Amino acid sequence: MDTPDAAPDIAGALNWARARIAVVDARVLLRHVLQCSAARLAAYPEARLDEREWAEFRSLIERREAGEPVAYLIGEREFYGRPFMVGPAVLIPRPDTELLIELALAHFGDKPRTRILDLGTGSGALAVTLALELPDADVTAVDRSREALLVAMANAARLKASVSFVLGDWFSQLGGDRYQLIVANPPYVAAGDPHLGEGDVRFEPGTALAAGPQGLDDLAAIAAQAPRHLEPGGWLFMEHGYDQAAAVRGLLTDAGFSSITSWKDLGGIERVSGGQWLGRGEPR
Ligand code: GLN
Repeated sequence: MDTPDAAPDIAGALNWARARIAVVDARVLLRHVLQCSAARLAAYPEARLDEREWAEFRSLIERREAGEPVAYLIGEREFYGRPFMVGPAVLIPRPDTELLIELALAHFGDKPRTRILDLGTGSGALAVTLALELPDADVTAVDRSREALLVAMANAARLKASVSFVLGDWFSQLGGDRYQLIVANPPYVAAGDPHLGEGDVRFEPGTALAAGPQGLDDLAAIAAQAPRHLEPGGWLFMEHGYDQAAAVRGLLTDAGFSSITSWKDLGGIERVSGGQWLGRGEPR
C-alpha cells in the first residue's frame, strides 16, 4: 500500500501500518501519538490525523519495521501492573520476571521491615515494585550502569517508591551490609547465542543480556558472593535462562545454600532458582 500524501483518518493510518508491522503494535503506537485510549481509537475510525501526528506515526512505524522495540518507541512498559519508563540503557521488563516478585511476596509478604537488595536493577522494575508491594521493607538497588540507575531513579520518583540506589558492580559497593532477601535478574544469555542478533533484543543493552560463554558468569558470581550479604535465614532468588536451572542449583549448592528450589515461569519453564542461607559455616 502506498503511503498517503495527506494525513489519513485513524482507519486509513492503521490500514497503512498493518501492511508493515503487527496491528497490535500499530495500535499502541497510534495511541501514543494521539495520546488516547484504545476505546477512542476504536470509536472514531474516521477521525483525521493532523500533519504532525501523521509524520510522527509514520516515523514510529518505520522504526518499528526496522526492529526497534515498541517499549523503547513509546518509552514505557508495564510491569506488575505499573508503568515503567524504559530506554536503550535498560532491559525491557519481561512478564516472566514477575515470578521474582511473586516469590518475594510469598516468602516475605508477612514479614515487615525486610531488608531487600536488587542486583542489576536496570529500569528498577523489581526494586520499585517490591518497595511498593512491601511498604515497610528497606529496599536497595544496585546497577553498574550510571545511565540505567538514572532510569531506575526516575521510575522510583514517578511511582513514589522509596528505594536506595547504589552505583556499583554487584556487591562491590555494599561493604559488609546484609539483607534478608536478594533478588537478581542478571545477564544470563550465552555470549555466542544467535538470539542476541535477532528481533527486539538487538536494541537492548548487551551488558544486560550476555554473560560469558555459557551465560553463567554473573549467576555464578552472585551465588558465590551472596552468603556474605545475607542474614542467617535469608533468601537469594535469581532469574536465569530456560536451560540453566540445574546449573544454577549447582552454583547454589556449591555456595552452601539450603532448600534449593527452581520455580516455573508463565510458559512452564524453570526460570528462577533460589535458596536459603542458614548462616552455618563460613561463606566460601
Ligand atoms: N529473558 C531475556 C531474553 O531472553 C534475557 C534476560 C536476561 O538476560 N536477564 O531476552
